[in-house]
Amino acid sequence: MDFFQGRCDMLICKECFKDEELRKEVQNEGVEGVCDVCGKNGLVVDLSHFIDFFKDVLRLYKKCDESQSTVLQTIQNTWGLFGKVEYGEIILKEVMNGFDPGYSLSDKVAYEDFLQNRIDIWERTKQQLKEQYRFFVNHDEFDRNNYIEIAVTITKGTNLYRARVTESGMSKFPSNKMGCPPKDKTKAGRANPVGIPYLYLCRDINTTLYEVRAGFLDKVSVGRFKIQRDLNLVDFDFDFPFYTSYDEGFDRWCDLIVKFEVLKEIRKDLSKPLTRYDTEIEYVPTQWICEYCKIIGADGISFASSLDNNGLNYVIFNPSDAKCTKVLCRTVEEVCIKAR
Ligand SMILES: [Zn+2]
Repeated sequence: MDFFQGRCDMLICKECFKDEELRKEVQNEGVEGVCDVCGKNGLVVDLSHFIDFFKDVLRLYKKCDESQSTVLQTIQNTWGLFGKVEYGEIILKEVMNGFDPGYSLSDKVAYEDFLQNRIDIWERTKQQLKEQYRFFVNHDEFDRNNYIEIAVTITKGTNLYRARVTESGMSKFPSNKMGCPPKDKTKAGRANPVGIPYLYLCRDINTTLYEVRAGFLDKVSVGRFKIQRDLNLVDFDFDFPFYTSYDEGFDRWCDLIVKFEVLKEIRKDLSKPLTRYDTEIEYVPTQWICEYCKIIGADGISFASSLDNNGLNYVIFNPSDAKCTKVLCRTVEEVCIKAR
């Protein structure tokens, strides 16, 4: 066996990585030296240490001319591995020097079929729910893969918020008008079906102002809701350690990647702002997934707000699990509108 087999002769320091796990690995395994990628002095690790991982990262993708991004852009956008895009380019170029994934660094790529077909489960389910079955759609694939799992708890006593634009002539809504409308007045929403009220809450006051679409100089009543008992939630912001999970083996790693992407797709639909052109059929898939969460025993769900960058939204299935204890007044002093 060639003594040099497996050596790449490229020393990499932790500054070349943004991913915390990769940085930690360099910190733990590195020896003093000069980084061949960014030129900094510090602890460095030879690329051979990561070579299997990077080859398998490249194996996740295939050439796809219809796609928008290259493999480097895709990896960086999805997994944020590299400290800078330039570093990623140098590292991937070296990996591809001894390994051909079937595309070049300038080709556009997409997930390989074995992943994309599984990720498409949400698209297939949505289509069935809208066009074929309304209530008893097949969910074997969800059951088998544990895509939907209870993952977080909000503890009794936690404060969450919900806003309503205050009607003219009143200073603020009373606390008993800050909750859900009664059942017979409950319209369909992203999460709840017509007639079944769920309580939509936010972690921060600011997010409620985005979610309620408050306009310039609008007066807003913000209800503070105290959680009445520990609640188990399905969290649609599924985050997993991309690098360290690789140790669990390629198949398990791919399972997690699929789960990550499936939940991302569902989250996109859950957090899609309502528009005046929406038809109720658009809400059926997300209502169905919430019902699925209920059936497996969740008290609610959480997901990132699409309107407020750092915002977190909650849907509580049983409105009496949170009680409005105070109503605050806010006036919107600035509105930021971005057009594309
Ligand atoms: Zn470096």
